[in-house]
Amino acid sequence: MAEQGFSQIKESISIDGKDFSFFNLTALNDSRYDKLPFSIRVLLESAVRNCDGFQVKRADVDNILGWEENQAKSVEIPFKPSRVILQDFTGVPAVVDFAAMRDAVKRLEGDPNKINPVCPVDLVIDHSIQVDVARSVDALEKNQELEFERNKERFVFLKWGAKALQNMMIVPPGSGIVHQVNLEYLAKVVFDSGNILYPDSLVGTDSHTTMINGLGVVGWGVGGIEAEAVMLGQAISMVLPQVVGYKLTGVVNPLVTSTDVVLTITKNLRQIGVVGKFVEFFGSGVEHLSIADRATISNMCPEYGATIGFFPVDGKSLEYLRQTGRHDDKIQQIEKYLNAVHMFRNYGDPSQDPVFSQIVELDLSTIVSCCSGPKRPHDKVAVTDMKTDFQACLNNKVGFKGFAIPSDRQSVKAPIVFDNQEYLLSHGSVVIAAITSCTNTSNPSVMLGAGLLAKKAVEAGLSVNPYIKTSLSPGSGVVTYYLRESGVTPFLQKLGFDIVGYGCMTCIGNSGPLPEAVSEAIEKNDLVACGVLSGNRNFEGRIHPLTRANYLASPPLVIAYALAGTVLIDFETQALGTNSEGKDVFLRDIWPTREEIQEVEKQFVVPAMFTDVYSRITAGNKRWNALEAPSDILYPWDSKSTYIKSPPFFETMTKELPTQTGLKDACVLLNLGDSVTTDHISPAGSIARNSSAARYLATRGLTPRQFNSYGSRRGNDAVMTRGTFANIRLVNKFVSKAGPRTVYLPNGEEMDIFDAAERYRSEGQQVIVLAGKDYGSGSSRDWAAKGPWMLGIKAVIAESYERIHRSNLVGMGIIPFQYLPGQTAESLGLTGKERFSVDLPGDISAGQVMTVQLNDGRTFDVCCRFDTDVELAYFRHGGILNYMIRQML
Ligand code: SF4
Repeated sequence: MAEQGFSQIKESISIDGKDFSFFNLTALNDSRYDKLPFSIRVLLESAVRNCDGFQVKRADVDNILGWEENQAKSVEIPFKPSRVILQDFTGVPAVVDFAAMRDAVKRLEGDPNKINPVCPVDLVIDHSIQVDVARSVDALEKNQELEFERNKERFVFLKWGAKALQNMMIVPPGSGIVHQVNLEYLAKVVFDSGNILYPDSLVGTDSHTTMINGLGVVGWGVGGIEAEAVMLGQAISMVLPQVVGYKLTGVVNPLVTSTDVVLTITKNLRQIGVVGKFVEFFGSGVEHLSIADRATISNMCPEYGATIGFFPVDGKSLEYLRQTGRHDDKIQQIEKYLNAVHMFRNYGDPSQDPVFSQIVELDLSTIVSCCSGPKRPHDKVAVTDMKTDFQACLNNKVGFKGFAIPSDRQSVKAPIVFDNQEYLLSHGSVVIAAITSCTNTSNPSVMLGAGLLAKKAVEAGLSVNPYIKTSLSPGSGVVTYYLRESGVTPFLQKLGFDIVGYGCMTCIGNSGPLPEAVSEAIEKNDLVACGVLSGNRNFEGRIHPLTRANYLASPPLVIAYALAGTVLIDFETQALGTNSEGKDVFLRDIWPTREEIQEVEKQFVVPAMFTDVYSRITAGNKRWNALEAPSDILYPWDSKSTYIKSPPFFETMTKELPTQTGLKDACVLLNLGDSVTTDHISPAGSIARNSSAARYLATRGLTPRQFNSYGSRRGNDAVMTRGTFANIRLVNKFVSKAGPRTVYLPNGEEMDIFDAAERYRSEGQQVIVLAGKDYGSGSSRDWAAKGPWMLGIKAVIAESYERIHRSNLVGMGIIPFQYLPGQTAESLGLTGKERFSVDLPGDISAGQVMTVQLNDGRTFDVCCRFDTDVELAYFRHGGILNYMIRQML
């Protein structure tokens, strides 16, 4: 092991009578340090502490210190985060890969025990629970029971992982949502490892990992494959980012919620363009935002496209740590250490403001109540404009803001009978109203706001139509606790917002079935039915296949639209109903003010709740504790299992490097347009009965009721390969209707994508994908890269890529080509029916421009998006994991 390069600035510090050491960055005596954005100081500290002259070099430290000059120069730096966080949908495939890597190392004559995480890994089981039962006091119990019944095999497997792999902690199912648990419990803010203090930082396999930046912890989402490399001790290789300073001034209007603030900021930052950059908040306005508010803003970072939305630690952060039951001595340690290294922020002191790449400003007092939708999180609509906006969407041609409903079908009314009573459904009818998602349920102000609104609504005699699937799925037990203590629970229940579980639920698309009468009416009349949810994503097909319009809104607004039963309402002029005296009740009559909410929050959200709820995490729960897991070093794969299967990634791997191949007459498997999301590439939702995956599961003796979701089947490559691109909304230019179909080009036959890929493979034919802008946006999903690899896809040619997805493709050895600026498939006149060849030079360099040769003689240039030398090394090895295995040998 090479020597620590900065031992001269290692100092000791005494906190509460205990001695610690730390790397004192101020002792670098470099005037550039205090000008660095606080987020960059965290990257610098990691480089200094891990500087071994090998993985992290002195030159890397110099490059980060010289951020002001280097930020626009695409300088590559290594980063070793303090820990890794996973959720079960990504955790299962990660543990499957570890198990398969152990097998491979054993086969290649190495020690399988070497395959172990070297940093702390927290795995929270939160993505598997579904809203099967809603609007019932037993919903929570019943949904949890079904969750265990459906997912038992996966849970046993994860328990094996926690036993067999070092440094891995599992937060059992039913505890809460990963990012909320991270915020309320797991985040250390300052790490204390072997008495060395350093900033907490992390990467997670979920794009909303960014939420933790609200508490001053630098962290972002990476692909599952990249996270596995970090677990194995590899530094992340990244481009030194530009940092946009986002200055907040003013104070939020008392009727506006933090969700409104975040939806406004999301739209604003999207317009500015912050993709690939850090955003760091500063200015006096930050002091008026609680940590929960800041975390909500940081959570939606992937929606505005930045890598992180960072709020450096200040006095408010310490208050939050106290409120959430962290110990006083820990809080003291955090304050003292961060002060010592100049990482503690006073937002009211402009002399502390660092240098930024660019500064943008927002006056918080200008924000109004809003929603986002109907299909994208950054399409903000002021609540006052919702009615006209939705009406316009019905008319507009099909697109992000359009459904193209013919004018004679726009006023169609569909009668349904539910519980022996007749109702009318129409375009705009709300059929799902869900208070869901870590984005909002971690924020007591909006949760209590919803509770107080429910109370006032019930007292005014208002109710929610019973066919609407209403649900409340908090991200931790603490929410239940303070809703109950503050006395609002019975009112929420009266409106149908019973607790249905602790997990992602509707936010991840686990909304469960709609009442049959409702589904039938929607399908028969082709209605644009609506979901209203407090989540952060609303791409078509994500929330529910039958809700074509989905609006993101604050929890109180979710209730408001549930009460209205439609989004076609102008709350200013239209009443929600009448009270017992026959007087109209408007939304403004029941809307709680910020002061009212703060009063209740102060009284009822107390540290004891957090300590009580989180003490149960380590103790587990009855069902979890009763599961018995094997204790072998190598996982005893069960060939009968339809959930956990050894993937073929390393089956043919040799100790030697494979020969590098380019493209030779590759056919286009899919000809796609803009904004193809990872939901399109690797859906997480339910498995359609007529799909390739369903046919496979049926051959394994399963009935449709047992299919479960794609997300829960990520431990089985056979299902996931068949589920790749199996989104019913996928638009492939080769076929006239949306769906998981393509044309097998040699004979023009239309077939399922999986079948076409198999056919090409059997003929030894390479395949590629053509795509438009933002290919792979949406949640980070390693199966969105593994699936295409399994289908034999060698390369993608796109106009641009989502950051994590591009690195996932590289991690699997798929080449991400990018059209040169200003060029597209259309501008080059590509039909997709050409054959594509590219020669890869042996000395290929990062970002190299290469020539694509078409079979008709035409050529065009593309940029090969291997962005760093490390990525090139991964590609040469056939992927990141193969690279890691060869390192182990
Ligand atoms: S799916 Fe929704 S609730 Fe779950 S972690 Fe992601 S944002 Fe949070």
